[in-house]
Amino acid sequence: MNLEHSPDPDGADCVACGRCCHHPPHTVSVLESDEARMGEETVRRLTVLLDRPPFFRFVVNAGEHCGALDVSVPGAFPCGIYAVRPEGCREVEPGSPCCLEARRLGHLGSSVEFKR
Ligand code: SF4
Ligand code: SF4
Repeated sequence: MNLEHSPDPDGADCVACGRCCHHPPHTVSVLESDEARMGEETVRRLTVLLDRPPFFRFVVNAGEHCGALDVSVPGAFPCGIYAVRPEGCREVEPGSPCCLEARRLGHLGSSVEFKR
């Protein structure tokens, strides 16, 4: 895969890329509809509710990538909750402007290094 080119529109490059899942804490918001889809156990294990108004809920994140990202295999970045992932994640389509911007900010093979 070459970052100079658009990724496969059907998502074939996504697991090897994972760039849009690398970001700082409090990036992936969880709506009530997302909570219902995710279920109580996943909400409890992988989300955090801010303790100040307006009490937004986010997917956990220890610093440089989403806490739901499965980083157990080097070089592969599958979503650990793909089937029930939040609405915001569903809107990031391969080749879309936010996908291309995420890829521009990251570097294939070192995308675990978050840089601004
Ligand atoms: S940045 Fe684009 S190609 Fe990479 S994982 Fe996200 S949607 Fe897929
Ligand atoms: S929930 Fe899944 S798709 Fe969304 S940012 Fe986290 S790992 Fe990526």
